[in-house]
Amino acid sequence: MNKFREKLTKFAQGRYGVDHFSKLLMFISLLLLIITLFWRSTLLYSLALVFLFYSYFRIFSKNISKRYSENQTYLNIRYKFLGRFNQFKARCKDQKTHKIFKCPSCRQKIRVPRGKGKIEIKCPKCRLSFIKNT
Ligand SMILES: [Zn+2]
Repeated sequence: MNKFREKLTKFAQGRYGVDHFSKLLMFISLLLLIITLFWRSTLLYSLALVFLFYSYFRIFSKNISKRYSENQTYLNIRYKFLGRFNQFKARCKDQKTHKIFKCPSCRQKIRVPRGKGKIEIKCPKCRLSFIKNT
C-alpha cells in the first residue's frame, strides 16, 4: 500500500491538477452523458468523451503555465459573461419601477419612476421639456 501511495505521489508531482476550467469541462461532459441517457446520439456521446478526456488531460498535464493561462482566459470570459448577465437582470428588475424615455430632440435616454401619471420631463442634456405618461 505504501509503495502504491509513493507511486501515486510521484505521478501527481509536477502535474497541473484540477481548476475551474477542468471542472467546467467535466460538468459539460456529465451533462452530455445525461442527455444521451434520454436521447441516444453517438455524436453527443463522443463529444462527452472528448470533454472528459480533455479535462483529464489538463488535470494531469505537466505544462502548468499553459494550463494556468487557459484557466485565466476561461475565468475572464466567465467574469464578462456574468457581468453582462447581472446587468441584464438588474435592467429587468428596474423596468418594473422605472421607465426609460428618449429625449425627442437629442435622443438622450432619461430614466423616470413609473406610476407618477403625466409628468414633465426635462432633458438633462439639451434642457428640452416634454410631457410623458409614466
Ligand atoms: Zn435632450
